[in-house]
Amino acid sequence: MHPRMLGTDRWRAYSVNDSAMLLAHRIRLDPNNVQATYLARAAGTARFAYNWALAEWQRQYQTSLADPALPKPNWMALCRRLNAIKRTEFPWMLEVTKDAPQIAIMQLGRAFENFFAHRARFPTFRRKGRDERFALSNDQFRVEDKRIRIPKLGWVRTRESLRFAGRIVSACISRLAGSWFASITVDTPNLPLPLAENQGAVGIDLGVKQLATLSTGETFAGPKALRALLVRLRRLSRDLSRKVKGSRNRAKARMKLARLHARIANLRGDSLHQLTTSITRRFHTIGIEDLNVKGMLGNRCLSRAIADMGFGELRRQLLYKAAGRGGQVVVADRWYPSSKTCSHCDFRLEALGLDQRKWICPGCATLHDRDVNAAINLRNMAVSSTVSACGGEGAGLARKRKAKPAPAKQESSGKASFG
Ligand SMILES: [Zn+2]
Repeated sequence: MHPRMLGTDRWRAYSVNDSAMLLAHRIRLDPNNVQATYLARAAGTARFAYNWALAEWQRQYQTSLADPALPKPNWMALCRRLNAIKRTEFPWMLEVTKDAPQIAIMQLGRAFENFFAHRARFPTFRRKGRDERFALSNDQFRVEDKRIRIPKLGWVRTRESLRFAGRIVSACISRLAGSWFASITVDTPNLPLPLAENQGAVGIDLGVKQLATLSTGETFAGPKALRALLVRLRRLSRDLSRKVKGSRNRAKARMKLARLHARIANLRGDSLHQLTTSITRRFHTIGIEDLNVKGMLGNRCLSRAIADMGFGELRRQLLYKAAGRGGQVVVADRWYPSSKTCSHCDFRLEALGLDQRKWICPGCATLHDRDVNAAINLRNMAVSSTVSACGGEGAGLARKRKAKPAPAKQESSGKASFG
């Protein structure tokens, strides 16, 4: 996995259905040297078992072609076979949790299932240095405040405590950019969070200067430290390209770069979580724009900031967090001119330059802050689309504006108490 993916999916919503939601929380581990050695050995055992089972699978498949009477390979039979021979042939496997080899083979079974269903490519062998992970089923580990108990190892300290309450499903222990993480999947009952505090509406203008501007006038700046880190990132990537291929210095530089990528991703992820949690806690109806990210990425000045902030991620978080609190997110049509329309009199400008931060409406002479005005328009759009979705009166001007309901909204629109 590319280390860049570290931060943005530290909270991942797996699925949303009526009864429950699977959430994964990735927690950094603080193992001592002995524990780190164990973790590396368990990951190595998982990798060995996976590769052993994949080779066996291919061999059995070939022989079953030659003799159709022989059974086709399957993961459960491979698991049993390995259990029968590991004591004599691979005794070192017994030094780590039995889940390491067992779940690896189960994962191979799933990889083949995905392959047969045309969802994935043919499974490939796991590689040292790239595939450093093993999984634990819920009966094999325990989580307490700031520690996790792993079989045949004992308690390992963690940097934070588990964020979600609910039934623990599984854990995946993995090494990324030199650090160990436990990604713990929890089956949380729906509506795990208190309902949004005030049942009001808010519009969010996602920006370049600011991470976000709310219709209330509040602004959320992106993390300041990010700039400095990005400068360092450019320098380190340049350094790396100058190092001789295959040299020890190059390996060192690459590790440094991976760590920096991880830090940047974490920083970005944290600021997005703060923003989306704050908004979904306070507001029930949330209007955002559907950014034409492709079009904006074509603009060189904007691309950096947009890539840094991860708008798609921000939207994803808003959707699942709002759903968790009974709120709703309304996404404006991507051509909806939120910046160019006067939120006071509905006058629409022909054009508004990207660098124009303030403007005066020719219709009603109101002085607008570009971002706040856009956010107010998005709030109005969200409110009016909820009203018209329920067949209420007075949707007014905004009714003719197209608004695309987000999935979270569709679920609740029938129950909404507007109109
Ligand atoms: Zn106006």
